[in-house]
Amino acid sequence: MSALNDRLDTGDIILIDGGMGTELERRGVVMDDQAWAGAAMRDQPDLIKEIHRDFIDAGADIIIANTYAAAPHVLEHAGLAGEAGALNLLACRLAREAADEAGVVRDLYVAGSMSSFRAGLEVDKLPSEKEARASYHEQAMRLAEGGVDLLIAEMMLDPVITEYCVSAAAETGLPLWIGFSARLGDDGRVLGFHKYADDPLEETIKVALAYNPEACGIMHSDVADTVPALECLKQHWQGTLFAYPHSGEFIMPNWQFDTVISTGDYVVEAKRYIDMGVHAIGGCCGMGPDHIRALKDGLPGFVV
Ligand SMILES: [Zn+2]
Repeated sequence: MSALNDRLDTGDIILIDGGMGTELERRGVVMDDQAWAGAAMRDQPDLIKEIHRDFIDAGADIIIANTYAAAPHVLEHAGLAGEAGALNLLACRLAREAADEAGVVRDLYVAGSMSSFRAGLEVDKLPSEKEARASYHEQAMRLAEGGVDLLIAEMMLDPVITEYCVSAAAETGLPLWIGFSARLGDDGRVLGFHKYADDPLEETIKVALAYNPEACGIMHSDVADTVPALECLKQHWQGTLFAYPHSGEFIMPNWQFDTVISTGDYVVEAKRYIDMGVHAIGGCCGMGPDHIRALKDGLPGFVV
């Protein structure tokens, strides 16, 4: 990780991968109606590894293990409560094997994902505070045991869940990146990407920053909302910035790909992020290996 920090400090652009869950879906995997991509370690481990490899071959320096929807409090709704530890460890192993077998000269990093995802995306599937804290703690420990290089708290969008998730991640002592997920309100305010409440994103940011992240960014936010969300984040965070927005629309349990941004248009957007000081860029839902390859080929500063 010190090598990664050195690269970030010197202004190198680091590439993050694209969306694993939506790429599984695009390749024909039936998504679980409760745990979405979180059940795929059981059903499609070889395909997960293949997708990691495709993102690495496209240019990703950081690949994110498929643990976004694999917290114990999510998997229990898919009938996988007893397998949560093993499935998180397997997700880490698949990512690490893909990195080790890629045979590339550059350093690769495996991130473990923890997120605000709730089973079925239903508000009543949120566990009690005690259950949520225990679940996030268990997942964080398994990801650390699985040997990830860093943890990314993904889709942080409200102050309560963010505190549960980020505090558990921070307990591991692993480098911590925090990804905020935003939308614009009718009045143009930057809100958490959350259909149940209008939480100003800055309230979530303030909670998260108490846990000493090494980097913060905007992810799983619409491309059109990412620049204003980055501006909001920059008012509170002067450290390393990342961005990996989504493109398209989610209708649980399936991503709608017909409106995904073209690779060329995404490179234009990514250059705007760089102009704002962003140093690590990738894609979230809807963005596949072609988008990452376009970043590698289209952004300045890469030795191709
Ligand atoms: Zn996403």
